[in-house]
Amino acid sequence: MAFEGLADRLQNTIQKIKGKGKVTEQDVKEMTREVRLALLEADVNFKVVKDFIKKVKERAVGQEVMESLTPGQQVIKVVKEELTSLMGEDESKIAVADKPPTVIMMVGLQGAGKTTTTGKLANLLRKKYNRNPLLVAADVYRPAAVDQLETLGKQLDIPVHQEGTQANPVDIANRAMEKAKEEHLDYVIVDTAGRLHVDEDLMNELSQIKENVQPDETFLVVDSMTGQDAVNVAESFNDQLDISGVILTKLDGDTRGGAALSIKAVTEKPIKFAGMGEKLDELEVFHPERMASRILG
Ligand code: GDP
Repeated sequence: MAFEGLADRLQNTIQKIKGKGKVTEQDVKEMTREVRLALLEADVNFKVVKDFIKKVKERAVGQEVMESLTPGQQVIKVVKEELTSLMGEDESKIAVADKPPTVIMMVGLQGAGKTTTTGKLANLLRKKYNRNPLLVAADVYRPAAVDQLETLGKQLDIPVHQEGTQANPVDIANRAMEKAKEEHLDYVIVDTAGRLHVDEDLMNELSQIKENVQPDETFLVVDSMTGQDAVNVAESFNDQLDISGVILTKLDGDTRGGAALSIKAVTEKPIKFAGMGEKLDELEVFHPERMASRILG
C-alpha cells in the first residue's frame, strides 16, 4: 500500500509525544527531527521537507493552549494541519466552462496512465457529476493508443472521436469540439501523445493543441511510483504548459509517497484526482485531509 513506510514512521513518532502533558522545546525538536527523516526517506523533495519542518516547529513551540487537547495532541494537530496544507487545502473542483463544452486536455509521459485515466475521468464525470463526455484520440503516434481509447469508450458506452493515426492532432481536437457542440456533449477530454521523456517536440505539439482548443483544464497525469522523477516531470510540464492540476496514478501501489507530498508545493498546482487501481472506476477525487489522516493514523 502507498505511504506504508512513511505512515509507520510518523505514527511511531507521534505516539511518543501524544500522551505528554507538557511538551518542551526539546520534545518538539526531537519529534521534528524524526518527521524530517521519515519524509526524506519517503522521497519528499528536500526543500519541501525543510519548509514543512520550519512551519511545524514555529507553530508547535509557540502555540496557544487549548483545553480540549493535551499538549501532545496539540502538536500532532499541527503536524496534521501542515501535512494537509502541503497537499492542498480543500478538495479542488473541476472546471465548468461558461459555454459548453468544457475542454479537458490530458498530458503526461508514456506509461503514466494517461489513456486509462482519460477513460476513468469520463466515467467519473458521468457517474458523479452527471455529465456527457466525448473522448478524443489525439495521440496519433502510438497506434495502440487510438485503439485503447476506442476500447475504453465501448466498455464505458461513452463516445470517442478518432481519425486514425494520419490526421493532425490539432485538427482532430478542433473537429471533436464541433462534434461535441452538435451532439450537445458537455465535456471534451483530449488524450494527447506522450513520450518516454520530456522533450521539445512533445512540448511544441502540446502547446499547439492547447492554443487551439483553449482547454478549461490541463491535467498532467503522473505516475506516483516514480517519486522525485514525478516531481521533476510535473515541474517541466507546468513550466511549458501551465497545467491546471495533477492526476496522480498508481497510488494503490507501494509508492513511498514523495510525489504526492511534493508536487503541490513545487508546482503550486493542486492534485485533483488519484488513480487507485487499473479498473475504470478506480479514480478518486483527491482529498488532502483524508490523505493526511491516512498517513498519520
Ligand atoms: P499512457 O501511456 O500514459 O496512456 O498509459 P496507459 O493508460 O496505457 O497506462 C499504463 C499502465 O498503467 C496500464 O497497464 C494501466 O492499467 C496502468 N495504470 C494506470 N493507472 C493506474 C492506477 O491508478 N493504478 C494501477 N495499479 N495501474 C494503473
